[in-house]
Amino acid sequence: KLTNTMSSEENIPSPLTARFSLGGRVILVTGGGRGIGMALSKTCLDAGATVVVTDVLSEPDPTFLEWRNRNPKQLLYYRCDLTKKEEVECTFANILEKLHYIHGIITAAGICVDKPFVEHKWEDIQKLQAVNETGTFFAVQNAVKNMKQHAIKGSVLMICSQSSQHVCPGHLLTAYAGSKGFVFSMARSLAHELSSDGIRVNTVSPGYIATDMNLSIATHRPELLKIFHQAPPLGRVGTPEDLQMAALYLLSDASSYVTGQDLVVDGERRKEE
Ligand code: NDP
Repeated sequence: KLTNTMSSEENIPSPLTARFSLGGRVILVTGGGRGIGMALSKTCLDAGATVVVTDVLSEPDPTFLEWRNRNPKQLLYYRCDLTKKEEVECTFANILEKLHYIHGIITAAGICVDKPFVEHKWEDIQKLQAVNETGTFFAVQNAVKNMKQHAIKGSVLMICSQSSQHVCPGHLLTAYAGSKGFVFSMARSLAHELSSDGIRVNTVSPGYIATDMNLSIATHRPELLKIFHQAPPLGRVGTPEDLQMAALYLLSDASSYVTGQDLVVDGERRKEE
């Protein structure tokens, strides 16, 4: 946790911790009502940001609600279905009317489909594209418009997946991997396009992380649980908290000379397949 961005003695940020501070910044987290996005919202909160969470959930995770009750001015929640154009536009308009600026965005909203290739339905692919691709694209576009309008040297962090570049043995992720491939490629290109504005764009690619997303997949294919729990070389299954410091590094000034990069957080260095 980075609650201590201030040195304990003089309450002045030390040069090192100050670079990880998000004090005075507005960070928007899509899909932050539970799972990985929720853990990353807490990190931003602890690092001093005003955090705006959007999610399709009408009732976010009880832990999130507890944090929000303790920090009503610093942690805000907007229900927003990223697949609905009007809802996205209206939500961003409401957020900006209240807070005026967005200094950073984390896109964690996402869905997964684990299914044999030949069994995918038209609707599966459309929903994957609507949430993981179109939803991510327009959330980032709205944030970047604001950064450019106010000459903010902001930071964009998209949660990708190691499946975008590597095979995940045992999984049936062809369509999901394709949707995350969109995110991976989009981030590289966008980083280049926005570099002259001083806006940085990076991705974090998690391996298997224990969240509801994977639990619900395992409900349909219980054999996956065994694969999930075949611990990676670091000896344990990943948790949302394992992504917190990677995200903070890439969002904050600690990584001010890093853009167009992907940070894999999966408990092992994957070999090129
Ligand atoms: P969760 O399902 O726990 O959280 C994702 C959140 O996104 C949920 O609250 C979900 O709501 C929300 N969401 C889904 N559809 C929409 C939508 N249309 N509009 C707005 N929000 C929406 O998943 P994780 O925390 O595990 O995953 C977070 C991100 O990390 C995802 O992008 C995922 O692809 C990626 N990832 C996860 C890995 C893992 O092993 N868990 C590995 C690699 C990448 P609802 O629950 O109602 O669908």
